[in-house]
Amino acid sequence: MTTSHLPSPDLAIRVAGLRMAYGPHEAVRGIDLAVRRGEVFALLGPNGAGKTTTVEILEGHRSRTGGTVEVLGHDPARHERAYKERIGIVLQSTGIDRYLTVGEAVDMFRGYYPHPRPREEVLALVGLEAQRDERVRRLSGGQQRRLNVAIGLAGDPDLMFLDEPTTGFDPAARRQAWEMIRNLRSTGTTVFLTTHYLDEAEQLADRVAIIAGGRIIAEGSPQSLASGQTRTVIQFRMPAALCVLPVPPEVAEVADDGRVRIETAEPTRTLLALTRWAGDAGVELPNLTVSRATLEDIYLQLVDASEAVGAAE
Ligand code: ATP
Repeated sequence: MTTSHLPSPDLAIRVAGLRMAYGPHEAVRGIDLAVRRGEVFALLGPNGAGKTTTVEILEGHRSRTGGTVEVLGHDPARHERAYKERIGIVLQSTGIDRYLTVGEAVDMFRGYYPHPRPREEVLALVGLEAQRDERVRRLSGGQQRRLNVAIGLAGDPDLMFLDEPTTGFDPAARRQAWEMIRNLRSTGTTVFLTTHYLDEAEQLADRVAIIAGGRIIAEGSPQSLASGQTRTVIQFRMPAALCVLPVPPEVAEVADDGRVRIETAEPTRTLLALTRWAGDAGVELPNLTVSRATLEDIYLQLVDASEAVGAAE
C-alpha cells in the first residue's frame, strides 16, 4: 500500500529512492516513504536497519547519498531556518541550566521561535504542570525526558520526531508518554516515531513502515498488516478427562505440561469441533484463548524472512 500518490499539501513527508552509504556500506538502500499530515507514523526495524540514519536525514542532521526528500515542503539538506522552526526534535541532552525552573526552561526555548506554543499548553501536553516551579535538577529521570519533549514542542512544530520515546520507562511512565503522543496528535501535529516496542506502534501509529537491511519491507496501518495474517491461534490446557484431540494431529502442538496450541485458518469450524468435544464430555477447556496474530508476530515473521533473503544475496 502506498500514499505517495497523494498531493504534496496532504503529505508532511515524501521520500523517494533515499540512499545513504557510509563508505562502502549502504545503510539505506532506496526507500520510499509518505507520511500524511496529522498522522502518527512509526518506523520500525531491528538494530542496524537504518532507522536512525533515515530520521537524521529527515531532520536535516545528516546528508544523503541519493534520492529525494521533502519534509513540510522543504529539502532538509538545505538547512533552512524556516524548516528548523517547523519541526520538533527531542534532544537527549539539552544543556539546560539545571537551576532554572521547568517553566523558565520552557520559556527560554520558546524565546527562540517566532510563534511559540503557549507555555501552559506545552506543560499540559507533557504532563509537567505540577512541576512548573520545580528546579530542573530536582526532576526524576522520566520527568527530565518529558521536559526534553516539552522543549521540542516549544516552537509549536507541525512535525515532531520522537526517537524511541519510551525506552527505559516504567510501565506507568510509558502510558503517560502514550497519552502525550495522543494529545499531540489531537492538536494536529504530525508525529514521526521510531520504536522497538511493537505494542507501542500498535497502540499509537496510524501507519507503520518496517525497515530491514536498509529497505522498506512492509507498510500500512497496524490493522492492515495484521489482517494480512489469516491464521488464528487457539490455546487451552488439555482437560484431564480427555486425551485424543478432535483435530488432525499435525495442526496441534501439545506441550509436556498439557498446553495445546492450534493454529488454524478456519477458527469457527475448529472452535466448534473443540467445544463439541469438550461439551460432549461435560468438561471445560481450561485457560481457553483465541487470538489473532499481533503486530509483533507479523513483524518477526517479516524481519526473519527478509534476513533470510539478505543472507542468501
Ligand atoms: P538501532 O535500532 O540499533 O538504533 P538503526 O535502525 O537506527 O539501529 P542505523 O543507526 O541507521 O540503524 O544504522 C544503519 C547501519 O549503518 C548500521 O549497519 C550501522 O552500523 C551503520 N552506521 C550508522 N551510523 C554510521 C556511521 N556514522 N558510520 C558508519 N556506519 C554507520
